[in-house]
Amino acid sequence: MILLDGKATSNSIKEEIAAEVEKLKQQGKKVPHLAAVLVGEDGASQTYVNSKVKSCERVGFDSTLIKLPASTSEEELLKTIDDLNNNDNIDGYIVQLPLPDHIDENKVTLAVAPGKDVDGFHPENVGRMSLGLPTFLPATPNGIMEMLGRYNIETSGKNCVVIGRSNIVGTPMSILMSRNTNPGNATVTLVHSRTKNLAEITRRADIIIVALGKPKFLTADMVGEGTVVVDVGIHRIEDSTKKSGFRLVGDVDYENVAPKCSAISPVPGGVGPMTIASLLQNTLKAISLQH
Ligand code: NAP
Repeated sequence: MILLDGKATSNSIKEEIAAEVEKLKQQGKKVPHLAAVLVGEDGASQTYVNSKVKSCERVGFDSTLIKLPASTSEEELLKTIDDLNNNDNIDGYIVQLPLPDHIDENKVTLAVAPGKDVDGFHPENVGRMSLGLPTFLPATPNGIMEMLGRYNIETSGKNCVVIGRSNIVGTPMSILMSRNTNPGNATVTLVHSRTKNLAEITRRADIIIVALGKPKFLTADMVGEGTVVVDVGIHRIEDSTKKSGFRLVGDVDYENVAPKCSAISPVPGGVGPMTIASLLQNTLKAISLQH
């Protein structure tokens, strides 16, 4: 069984990016500058944003963290976004989701300049992805493609089941896996909460990408021998034996599923670090679009 080690893979990618940044510096060029906007005090969001900012520093990018209180109005947030769109010093930025309920996420997504949309959520970038044109690919699905590619996982002609159809993970994942690329060229089935006989479908899969947000949902009886499993879920489970009081688990019942797999990504240390590496790759790409 191959462990799809996202931590090690993302470290290699970060080293490659750091070398690119060093080259830019030596040529007297601007280094990429990523900004992150965080609205409110959600603990998980703070952890994600801090880790993105820290990764920027590690590869030599400039970074700016804009923390706004949960009481920030939609208008104020849109003004911050407009400022970022017009700030030539910022090459790309993200607005950490979820946003407080009084802010319309769609309005925010549409307000981000497509050329700085390193999350790849703007409809223009989603459309470009669907057409196979150069663009910012959404960080989590792209990180998974990168991981499959670097581990030489064969995807061409394989039956790939994607569980979950969110705009940021499941749907773009299904598009990327079905495109005429390598990795890609898979025969994709996208399943969701209305799908009937889900276990029958997953048992026939060669590759299962699990992104539904339910701890340990994919169990051993739902998986055939030799399957490749990619676990996108992240959940905090209470654990009194840990100093923090919790441990992280994914959407896959890892202990029981892993022995049946030809390859599997763990949680933590799988898709999470790949998402960050992919965001850094997009930010590096942004600099060539902006300058
Ligand atoms: P989401 O927006 O909540 O979407 C969940 C999807 O799963 C929906 O399409 C839903 O179907 C489907 N679903 C729910 N219950 C199901 C069931 N019983 N059977 C089949 N499908 C079911 O979730 P998300 O934003 O994609 O995130 C999914 C998970 O990935 C979460 O744990 C999240 O924390 C994690 N995540 C991790 C990363 C990372 O970097 N590792 C990044 C993003 C998200 P309907 O459409 O029918 O409701």
